Amino acid sequence: LEVIASVEPRIADATRKELADQRGSLKLIASENYASPAVLLTMGTWFSDKYAEGTIGHRFYAGCQNVDTVEALAAEHARELFGAPYAYAQPHSGIDANLVAYWSILAHRIESPWLEKAGSKNVNELSDADWERLRHEFGNQRLLGMSLDSGGHLTHGFRPNISGKMFHQQQYGTDPETGLLDYDVVRAKAKEFKPLVLVAGYSAYPRRVNFAKMREIADEVGATLFVDMAHFAGLVAGKVFTGDEDPVPYAHITATTTHKSLRGPRGGLLLAQEEYASSVDRGCPMVLGGPLSHVMAAKAVALAEARRPEFQTYSQNVADNAKSLAEGFLSRGAKLVTGGTDNHIVLLDVTSFGLTGRQAESALLDAGVVTNRNSVPADPNGAWYTSGIRLGTPALTTRGFGKDEFDRVAELIVHVLQNTQPGSAKAGGPSKATYALGDGVADKVKDASAEM
Ligand code: PLP
Repeated sequence: LEVIASVEPRIADATRKELADQRGSLKLIASENYASPAVLLTMGTWFSDKYAEGTIGHRFYAGCQNVDTVEALAAEHARELFGAPYAYAQPHSGIDANLVAYWSILAHRIESPWLEKAGSKNVNELSDADWERLRHEFGNQRLLGMSLDSGGHLTHGFRPNISGKMFHQQQYGTDPETGLLDYDVVRAKAKEFKPLVLVAGYSAYPRRVNFAKMREIADEVGATLFVDMAHFAGLVAGKVFTGDEDPVPYAHITATTTHKSLRGPRGGLLLAQEEYASSVDRGCPMVLGGPLSHVMAAKAVALAEARRPEFQTYSQNVADNAKSLAEGFLSRGAKLVTGGTDNHIVLLDVTSFGLTGRQAESALLDAGVVTNRNSVPADPNGAWYTSGIRLGTPALTTRGFGKDEFDRVAELIVHVLQNTQPGSAKAGGPSKATYALGDGVADKVKDASAEM
């Protein structure tokens, strides 16, 4: 930090404060974690300075031999860890990984047969008229994914996102009564809509998914099954999700982020069955430019960590702790979407406290509990104010919290929410954002957290 401070002291200062904030609060954001010193240090090296567009052994720049080593190791660890025939470590983020997946599916399912019919080797050989027809074909494909308010991600066909614009899209939700995925409904929608891509995976669904069933549905309608395991990759890597709950053998392509439950650097990763490997391998130049070589190196380190037995213990603890957190809420009368959890996420419906998600999120932050507001199914408060709080156990599990600590966390959160009143807007009526936290509550919760 001294070196940084000699150039821009305000960055050194912000970095110090970030460490203090992350250490001094209860980090319950389900997509966050604490990467190891080995992972963090690996990101701060001279690999950052190297350009390496292309693929392993086929770069558009000279001098990429060490990047080749790094990328090959990241891919090898990923293949071994997840039991996948092919891995691609270049995506800079989860969104990039998903975009590479979508374009790989379009390349494999639409472009390749088209080129074969036209007797061309690549798109540069097509006449302008044929190229226009192919572009039209790209834009005419369908995608079916989980809706945002049921727990899906923006990239699963949400209209404001590019995925909702590049595809004709429809969404499946969860059962309005139970909050659970209903595979018969997914099947019926798929049969009617006949998507090219069926997306499974989630950001805010507190349950496991049966990927064997999703594959069955994809096969019935001729869709490619794409699974986005960004959130729960750590539970797959740690062998908590096995059999039908492990997406890798069932999905044609699986994408993940590397920084959430997987506990690596910020980034994306793709796994694919053999038939999709060559399309995914064209991620650069199809979607990506130069890879972040320093981050790929850190992915290799994180994946090596995830292959150790300790990682399986961590993953099991993540799931056990989520159960303890959920039970802690239920035993204190709080309402949970789906009534519980069997992954790393707990989705608390805060309407029973008379609050919006926005009010609850702010009051909890005042008390040093860092969460994010989240829609609940058919949310009456919309996607900005919301009615839920999403909580995740990976980060505090990494810090060593066990079941008892998570029960205490539930107690503290309920205490904050029971002592928070919705505030008034300036114009007089109720506001969905303002709130009043009872005197002394924040200090009491901060003191209790510091003891854990
Ligand atoms: N996919 C899912 C399921 C996610 O939850 C997220 C992040 O929240 C992403 C993709 C996008 O990841 P990133 O923020 O790295 O682009």
